[in-house]
Amino acid sequence: MELPFAEAWKIKMIEPLRKSTRAEREQWLKDAHYNVFMLKAEQVYIDCLTDSGTGAMSDRQWAELMLGDESYAGATSFFKFEAMVQKIFGFKYVIPTHQGRAAENVLFSYLVKEGNVIPGNAHFDTTKGHIESRKAQAIDVTCDEARDTQLEVPFKGNVSLEKLERVLEQNKGNVPFMVLTITNNTVGGQPVSMQNIRETAELCHRYGVPVVMDSARFAENAYFIKTREAGYADKTIKEIAREMYSHVDAMTMSAKKDGVVNMGGFIATDNKDWYEGAKLYCIPFEGFITYGGMNGRDLNALAQGLDENTEFDMLETRIHQVQYLASLLDEYGIPYQRPVGGHALFIDADKVLCNVPKEEFPAQTLTCELYLEAGIRGCEIGYILADRDPETRENRFGGLDLLRLCIARRVYTDNHMRVIAAALKNVYDRRNDITRGVAIEWEAPLMRHFTVQLKRL
Ligand SMILES: *Cc1c(COP(=O)(O)O)cnc(C)c1O
Repeated sequence: MELPFAEAWKIKMIEPLRKSTRAEREQWLKDAHYNVFMLKAEQVYIDCLTDSGTGAMSDRQWAELMLGDESYAGATSFFKFEAMVQKIFGFKYVIPTHQGRAAENVLFSYLVKEGNVIPGNAHFDTTKGHIESRKAQAIDVTCDEARDTQLEVPFKGNVSLEKLERVLEQNKGNVPFMVLTITNNTVGGQPVSMQNIRETAELCHRYGVPVVMDSARFAENAYFIKTREAGYADKTIKEIAREMYSHVDAMTMSAKKDGVVNMGGFIATDNKDWYEGAKLYCIPFEGFITYGGMNGRDLNALAQGLDENTEFDMLETRIHQVQYLASLLDEYGIPYQRPVGGHALFIDADKVLCNVPKEEFPAQTLTCELYLEAGIRGCEIGYILADRDPETRENRFGGLDLLRLCIARRVYTDNHMRVIAAALKNVYDRRNDITRGVAIEWEAPLMRHFTVQLKRL
């Protein structure tokens, strides 16, 4: 008999979970104005809000914390971290920052000027924010396949070379760089193929435009290249990562994802001018260049996290779990963005709560229903997040309305996945009885989803 698949680690330390009653959750959600960001974490049983900074560190990472060198300048921890980044990505110059958006802030302060145009495959929201706040324009050049949630293609995060070329052609001399996000978070953690990385970089370079890799889930992307793209099955994750980065000019990294640390980030590049330019912004924003907003111990834990999370077994365990949850939803017929990506499932709320009008926010309603059902916290990536049109102030109902369930790295077991799937099935079974959604009672003028106050209709 073939042995079944099992995790590539065992558990050494546990954190008790808290269950609750439906009556308690009704009250807590009401107190939170039907916004799950306003819940206390202790009111949540299984937390799928985000995979950012929520991973479980290994015994080796915890051991590295004890070895941290907290010297202000020139700490051994910095050099250990720098050597690991150089080894994995092949870049010479490394600047630590306290998280991914800080890396964007430092690098873009040097690179982005008013009126610039910066194409990318669906810029992450902080990336877009750092471009638009500098009065530059972020243009999405993701392939069209990404918009159809039911279409099964292996690399749905890819760049459309035609769209990219059009932007480069129309904005000659005004594109300081292109952002290539791997995996493509915004369209559902969908990977970008090596071929697309290479062709995107070649096209940009032909126009004299450098490429910055937004790298939060680079290891998951490398896993998908290994398992889905011809010619990569026998290569290691580290070899694939080196090849991915050999095509591009620089990277920003949110280490809270594939670095498997609770806080951290960095910039790396071979471009000396960019390094010298970014350094000048690191010091006032983040701190001296050998710590950049990080503790010595955290730099150590990050170096270790990068090393172990670029091993195949570690990634296989993670992706296998996300795919296991997806297979349960397949069994129950619950529609999600297909094929499932690396870090999360995106449930197509419009196709589940068909009786809730879009003006009553189906995905937010589904988020509330799932929490009430079993204390599971997901996150609306839909019409509330899409906010209002800056000119007309109308709600933007043009995009997808999704409930995102992120899976934290090395935190929950497959039994928890079964609980999530069963809870979703229970909501799905009574979907036709859910006819009313939520209405906004109060909202902030910007980034309203974090603090919005809703009422149940
Ligand atoms: C999380 C993320 C960021 C921002 O990183 P933070 O560490 O949250 O500041 C940028 N880009 C992508 C693709 C991300 O997933």
